[in-house]
Parts: sequence; structure tokens; C-alpha cells
Amino acid sequence: MVRTSKTAVRLRSPPQNSKVVDFDHFFYYIFFMSSHCDICAFNCYGQKGNYASCCSVEERNWIMGPILDYEKVLKDLSLKYGREVTFKEVFYDFDEGSRTFSARKVWQDPNNYPAMRIDFSTPKKTCVFYNENLRVCSIYEIRPETCKNYFCDYLERELFMNQ
Ligand code: SF4
Ligand code: SF4
Repeated sequence: MVRTSKTAVRLRSPPQNSKVVDFDHFFYYIFFMSSHCDICAFNCYGQKGNYASCCSVEERNWIMGPILDYEKVLKDLSLKYGREVTFKEVFYDFDEGSRTFSARKVWQDPNNYPAMRIDFSTPKKTCVFYNENLRVCSIYEIRPETCKNYFCDYLERELFMNQ
């Protein structure tokens, strides 16, 4: 996810040997997942009631991209829904995205594509996969790598400061 013309994807440090979920890491995951959801769905960026700013464009210069593993995401989505899910249902390419958000700088940079498609019926203009009622990503298990790896400064500080 990008907030300027420069890619701003931030990788968090996973627990060491994270492939083996031992006892300590089990509690780490329990702590991490519950805290993560509480913050992202109800206290996004420390603002009470705010949610999912990184999954929505709002009125900001913001884009959810680039989604470099888009082919895998489409394949996983097709399996999940039992039909062929097309690129256009899920993503913007540069041509369409730059026209759709013609006044927003990050949408004018081809390096930020493919980008997640926006649901214009939602108040915050969220990604088409964000469920506003439940305040969760509806494809959490198969979400793109860009989403998996993104942690805003606020979330990183809250979750990992004392790790
Ligand atoms: S990662 Fe940050 S910006 Fe994204 S939903 Fe969580 S608190 Fe909000
Ligand atoms: S796929 Fe999920 S995590 Fe990624 S932008 Fe959309 S709602 Fe957010």
C-alpha cells in the first residue's frame, strides 16, 4: 500500500523460527491477532471508532498496491468462489486506475499497479473485499502479500514496541 509515489510497504519482523509455532509463539499469535484486530477494526491509527484506513482510500492520496502476486490471488479467489474471478473484478490496471482517480498523485504512477479495486458505495471507499459490517477483510486467508506485509507506523509501534 502506498501513501506517496514511493512504495511504502513495511515488513514487520516475524518471531524467529516462525514456521514452528511453539508454545511461546502460540501465545504470541493469540496476543498479536486479537490486538491487531482490536486496533485495526476499532481504533485505527489510535482514533476511536476509526477502522481500516489502509484498506480504504477515503479522500487521501492513497492506493492499495502494487499487488505483485495478483495471479495467485486470482487463482485463490477462483477456487474460493468456485468460478473464474477476473482481473477487472478485483484490480485496477494503470489505465483504468489513473483515470478513476485522476486527481490523486499515487494513482498516476504505473509502479503502484495492479491496485485493489474500490467499492464506491462505502463511505470510506474501501477495497472491494473489506466487509464494513464485520470490519474485517473478507479474504483474509488469501489476501495479497502487499496486505499481509503492511503495518502502519502506529500498529507497528503498538504491537512490537515491547517485543
Ligand atoms: S494497519 Fe494501521 S492503518 Fe491499517 S487498519 Fe491497522 S491501524 Fe489502521
Ligand atoms: S484485500 Fe483485504 S487486506 Fe487487502 S486491501 Fe482489501 S480488504 Fe484490505
